[in-house]
Amino acid sequence: MSYLKEKLKTDGVVINDSVLKVDSFLNHQIDPAVLHEINQEFIEYFKEKEITKIMTVEASGIAPAILIASQLDVPMLFAKKTEPSTLLNDEQYATNVHSYTKNKTSRVLVSKKYLKSEDKVLIIDDFLANGEAALGLIDLVEQADAEVVGVGICVEKSFQPGRQKLEEKGVDVFSICRIASLENNEITFVEEKAEIS
Ligand code: 5GP
Repeated sequence: MSYLKEKLKTDGVVINDSVLKVDSFLNHQIDPAVLHEINQEFIEYFKEKEITKIMTVEASGIAPAILIASQLDVPMLFAKKTEPSTLLNDEQYATNVHSYTKNKTSRVLVSKKYLKSEDKVLIIDDFLANGEAALGLIDLVEQADAEVVGVGICVEKSFQPGRQKLEEKGVDVFSICRIASLENNEITFVEEKAEIS
């Protein structure tokens, strides 16, 4: 079992049937060993792709995104949720992203200076749930007429529709861990569920 899966089983806290807390090793305190393993798996999966930029959305995507950007020696661009922006409307690409964990819609934006039509963008995030964050980032890339080469996710909750929505758009989605269920206060990975049934 991968180290990330082990950490999810031992230190992940199931809040309810759809939300998992990973504050002790992934998105508040960060275990570098987890990040290194995640990075290796992203590098291996996307090694054939030409990538000129890594994109994520603040804040919890930044740590895994910076590691892969550093290894590929390309810039990492994170969409900002900050408002009001110091950028003028005609200097930014912007879109709305709804977070169901926070029950809040944020306007996320990037400067037009840092996203160009020749960019080939790999999108990285910590979780994939309903796909809102990834679809918002894809929207920003499309506004710049740039290309999305794939989406890399640390923890996918496969019982939620994010992967399906991205695949319907023809996006290559790679997730390191795929969770089939959080029912009964327990994490069941997709491959464990397949073994049971
Ligand atoms: P989506 O946009 O795919 O619905 O949700 C992905 C975003 O919501 C991620 O950027 C992540 O920060 C947050 N998120 C979604 N589900 C969870 C969860 O179960 N636990 C945590 N910690 N964050 C989540």
